[in-house]
Amino acid sequence: MRWLEVSVEVDAEAAEAVAEVLSRYVERGVAIEAGPDGWHAGPVVVRAYLPDDDERWARRKQIQEGLWHLGQIVRIPEPSFRSVAEEDWTEAWKKRLRVLRVGAHIVIQPSWLDYEHEAGDVVIRLDPGMAFGTGLHPTTQMCLVALEELVRPGMEVVDLGTGSGILAIAAAKLGARDVLAVDSDPQAARVARSNVIGNGVQGTVRIKRGSLSDVAGTYDLLVVNILAKVIVELVEQGLCERMRRGAFFVGAGITSDRTPEVIAAFKSKGLEILDQRQQDDWVTLLAKRP
Ligand code: SAH
Repeated sequence: MRWLEVSVEVDAEAAEAVAEVLSRYVERGVAIEAGPDGWHAGPVVVRAYLPDDDERWARRKQIQEGLWHLGQIVRIPEPSFRSVAEEDWTEAWKKRLRVLRVGAHIVIQPSWLDYEHEAGDVVIRLDPGMAFGTGLHPTTQMCLVALEELVRPGMEVVDLGTGSGILAIAAAKLGARDVLAVDSDPQAARVARSNVIGNGVQGTVRIKRGSLSDVAGTYDLLVVNILAKVIVELVEQGLCERMRRGAFFVGAGITSDRTPEVIAAFKSKGLEILDQRQQDDWVTLLAKRP
């Protein structure tokens, strides 16, 4: 059997969205590959494989249309297509995937890749392309760094908008005693559940499909990587009331122009802003309930 390889070279920031589009049309997952200079220098390649059969032209057209729609929001170059033999794709694909390091100790590892761990590594096994949260997006990386700094053994954590479950898994591996991971998208909840099991943290992480109304009780840390607008709405609906005294709030997915709104919402609930960090146009806020 032959496979049609589709590849698109994009900025790391757009890679997740492209992987999401491609994942609608492929059966065997999507890979996001770093360029020769690593994840942060220059473009990455998003690659996927689909059967190279009689349907190939229809599939190509669907992919081109899907990417065209996305191209209205971010710049997406034309995808390249090539036909490869069955034997070639498995090996070629696995060879190209890399392990991604974030913060001081966090390692994101594609599940089929061997990797020699170093002492102190916090390893998260994840495959890209099925739900937002591969670790490539700057907002996810800033949240991981914040979790590394803030999570202490025994904490109870909420990850609202869990996507792939990446932040919930990280919190569990960093020592949280209990993590509630919630997502309104059923597909994300499914993917998160499977990633939680794949990482062996199902004893600590509970996944719920839903939103704020499914978060009962109070917690030591909330992490919300959605969008400024959604964070402000959630705060107005009582999100900060789920924080214990001394609890932390990591808010991300905030573009710099919307940051003042989120800060105002936090202050209106009596939170203290601990830090404001920025990568590209993305701001992450660290706040605390005094
Ligand atoms: N936490 C992951 C994924 C962030 S993407 C990371 O940091 O990489 C944001 C996720 O929030 C998406 O999966 C989306 O389905 C979910 N989401 C958006 N609005 C939501 C809401 N109001 N309540 C719950 N989940 C929401």
